[in-house]
Amino acid sequence: TNDNLFCALRAAFPEDLDAIAVETTSANGEPLNYSWRDLDRMSARIANLLDSLNIPTGSRVAVQVEKSVEAMALYLATLRAGHVFLPLNTAYQSAEIAYFVTNAEPAVVVCAPANFGWVSKIAFQCGTQSVFTLGDDRSGTLLERAVHCDDTHTPAQKTADDMAAILYTSGTTGRSKGAMLSHGNLLSNAVTLKDYWGWKTGDVLIHALPIFHVHGLFVAIHAALLNGSKMIWFAKFEPKAVIAAMAWATVFMGVPTLYVRLLAEPGLTKAAAQHMRLFISGSAPLLIETFRDWQTRTGLSILERYGMSETIMLVSNPYQADARHGGQDERRGGTVGFALPGVGVRVQGDDGQALGADEIGHIQVQGANVFSGYWRMPEKTAQEFTADGWFKTGDVGKIDARGYVTIVGRSKDLIISGGYNVYPAEIEGFINDLPGVAESALVGVPHPDFGEVGVAVVIAKPGQQLDADGIVSTLKKQLANFKIPKRCFVVGELPRNTMGKVQKNLLRDQYQDLFK
Ligand code: ATP
Ligand code: MG
Repeated sequence: TNDNLFCALRAAFPEDLDAIAVETTSANGEPLNYSWRDLDRMSARIANLLDSLNIPTGSRVAVQVEKSVEAMALYLATLRAGHVFLPLNTAYQSAEIAYFVTNAEPAVVVCAPANFGWVSKIAFQCGTQSVFTLGDDRSGTLLERAVHCDDTHTPAQKTADDMAAILYTSGTTGRSKGAMLSHGNLLSNAVTLKDYWGWKTGDVLIHALPIFHVHGLFVAIHAALLNGSKMIWFAKFEPKAVIAAMAWATVFMGVPTLYVRLLAEPGLTKAAAQHMRLFISGSAPLLIETFRDWQTRTGLSILERYGMSETIMLVSNPYQADARHGGQDERRGGTVGFALPGVGVRVQGDDGQALGADEIGHIQVQGANVFSGYWRMPEKTAQEFTADGWFKTGDVGKIDARGYVTIVGRSKDLIISGGYNVYPAEIEGFINDLPGVAESALVGVPHPDFGEVGVAVVIAKPGQQLDADGIVSTLKKQLANFKIPKRCFVVGELPRNTMGKVQKNLLRDQYQDLFK
């Protein structure tokens, strides 16, 4: 047998290879469909092109291109040829690309045609053998070359432990680390999610996420392929078009900001969403208000789940009654749900002690989904695993008596004020409940007396005025003194990266001298 992930995905293609696998529009707005046969042939051609380069098996193929179906085919081709896919955020500029390329030493780099000049310069300096280009309009040297290659290809022989991808983390808390994921990690998680989220014949996925990240690349694409499901594919997120597509689709995956943008559309109604069976959110915390507004507007509860580059998905709210948890089927807003089947999740105290229900500590995970380590960072890898082999997620949270996991923040964002732990998510929750508040972020900054104190950065709802001092005095009536932010700022928006994650490190930098 061959444990190459591509074999499992290919085996799930429907019998009718002429059926539509991906429905999209071309760069100039024309409707464009791809059949399953197209995906098979396109990925075979590119795999044959990679084979023709005579690079060692398991070479890195680094890819920074705009989202397109061809870019997905390049991912499949890389698996097929037995190499390691290394996607890069399209926002990265030369300093970042230089870091990733120097760090990963890819044998092949694929970039946007417009970036060929500076990307190829960096790549060739780092010993990259071939640099190809791929545009979002099917332009570029990759397809020009691949077109001459054979359209059948036998997948490279792989074991479950062989590396399939290096996914660089989003860099929310510091420099990105390359998580090494194996064919077995990816397949086991995809199979678990297909089952836990009730994928069935006839499902159609709206794919509107970027494909350089775990959410859009693995969670979304693997689910659809493994279920033989059609994707309605958006190169860019357009709320009105996504709402229109709901009439033909059943599943949507988004980061919280996408849900907020959909809610801003009057066209989002029960009628518009009536064909949909499942809305999934993750990558960043979903505000409870967004969860409730969605229920009111569509009649459906968003299913929030929790994952990361290093582990793919580990915790999810239930899609239907979960027998492991007494048949509970409630999707609880504000929580990320239950440990997925086959995934171990526990919460430990600062000294490594086991914690009871509702006690806040470090979230740790174990399972077939968990990566083997950070690329070329053996010390960092050793630090992030416990002696008994659990991965330290870096997130802080709790598990209630019913089994629901709640994330209260990242350990790096935890504020220790006068010796007391302040959990940002708790305080943010109180601030977000105040009238006129859209959202908020609490960060710790140095303070001469308390070591650290919280500073609240608050965004008003459109058209509302907020009084920063008034927010602090209201909180004083609700919370213990050590939890009260020492200062509050009302600003226009929070700094976010492309996955919609608030970059608290930037806020900390901005306010670090407040009390000096
Ligand atoms: P870095 O590790 O480089 O600082 P990152 O952790 O943001 O960046 P990713 O692997 O893309 O990089 O993101 C994983 C993190 O996203 C998780 O550790 C968690 O903090 C956060 N996250 C994911 N899903 C959720 C969720 N549903 N609710 C809250 N946080 C979430
Ligand atoms: Mg992380």
